[in-house]
Amino acid sequence: MARTDDLPFLISGGGIGGLAAAHALARKGFPVRVLEQSAELREVGAGIQLGPNIFRALGKLGLKDPVLADAWEPKAQEMRDALTGKSVTRIPLGKDSFQRFGEPYAVTHRHDLHAVFLSACKSNNLVTLETQQRLIDFEDTGDGVVVRLENGDGIKGRALIGCDGMWSRVRERIVGDGAPRVSGHIAYRAVLRREQVPDDLWQPDIVLWAGPRTHFVHYPLRRGELYNLVAVFHSDRYEEGWNTEADASLLWQHFNGQRPEVLRLLEKIETWRMWVLCDREPIKDWSKGNVTLLGDAAHPMLQYLAQGACMATEDAYWLAEKVAETPGDLPAAFRAYQEQRYLRTGRVQLMARVYGEFYHARGVTAELRDQMLSARTPQDAYDGIEWLYGSM
Ligand SMILES: Cc1cc2nc3c(=O)[nH]c(=O)nc-3n(C[C@H](O)[C@H](O)[C@H](O)COP(=O)(O)OP(=O)(O)OC[C@H]3O[C@@H](n4cnc5c(N)ncnc54)[C@H](O)[C@@H]3O)c2cc1C
Repeated sequence: MARTDDLPFLISGGGIGGLAAAHALARKGFPVRVLEQSAELREVGAGIQLGPNIFRALGKLGLKDPVLADAWEPKAQEMRDALTGKSVTRIPLGKDSFQRFGEPYAVTHRHDLHAVFLSACKSNNLVTLETQQRLIDFEDTGDGVVVRLENGDGIKGRALIGCDGMWSRVRERIVGDGAPRVSGHIAYRAVLRREQVPDDLWQPDIVLWAGPRTHFVHYPLRRGELYNLVAVFHSDRYEEGWNTEADASLLWQHFNGQRPEVLRLLEKIETWRMWVLCDREPIKDWSKGNVTLLGDAAHPMLQYLAQGACMATEDAYWLAEKVAETPGDLPAAFRAYQEQRYLRTGRVQLMARVYGEFYHARGVTAELRDQMLSARTPQDAYDGIEWLYGSM
């Protein structure tokens, strides 16, 4: 009989978190088997922002340069009022931010980040990548785990890492806290080619138009060849799963009356994809025996701090560190990993909600927001985000 410590770590889910974890564990010499439910290992979606903290983690995982190679490094992040067009605040992200945090700030396509992890996994013989392998259940046998797949197969592993996202089946079994919380916010996303964007509307920076119960963000992607657009508004609609095709008329109801720059860009989009935004309350205990969680399965968050993929990548680094410290006692390693992570990820989950409220403020709240933010210097802004960008 095989010794359990010869068996691979099983990872359910081959998204950004699952592949980051597979890469990080294999770098430490552990065999890994990734079980992904989809027919293809591929990321959908659009652009994501990458704060300096993810580059700290990517540097330790040996993947900073390949991620930067296809990314775009904006020089600033600007918030504008979607009704008056006034600039509320502008935070430099180039040289000054690099000097402060020691790492760049970039934006990239989700596909490009995923592709870097995928290529790293493919180049390591210790990683096996399997598609159409949907986990439906598992058993912790004390000395390892057995994962049950939809096709009836049972797969033995040394441990299970649930990287199966917002609606995690593994979380359901070990935490059991029901369905995610529906925020009441919906994101519509689209990507244009550079030539589809009128020159007077194309901006090299990250621009966020804050409106009453809406916001709209745009920035270039993939070395400037693409342009990413995200429009968010309040709605009580709920659909489980991401990336469904969206009804544009609903969007117009919410953005009607905003600045012409906003409306002209929104008009350029033929097909929007829709994400119903959900999160959960932070928890501190997401490991049980030989099973743990990572990324959105552990701490799903709203995207307002632009940190879900960043947190999943940090998780992957710390998980592999803790496993390498006590490889003979994985339950202890998993406890050490969640101990390292839960306050930081919980803070991002909660602060993301606060940022969402700020972006969508109306009336006096919006005036106060503008007054507070416009009074800040870039140094004040850096001080306020040091807890997030300055560590990992
Ligand atoms: C509108 C929006 C904007 C965002 N912007 C940013 C940003 O700017 N910066 C940032 O860092 N993050 C951002 N995020 C968040 C980020 O995209 C996610 O946090 C991140 O992708 C989570 O990765 P994950 O691997 O944990 O989960 P997922 O990407 O959800 O991957 C889970 C994987 O598990 C698979 N799976 C699920 N169930 C099973 C099963 N039972 N068996 C096998 N496989 C299974 C799925 O098919 C999927 O491949 C944004 C999110 C949204 C919605």
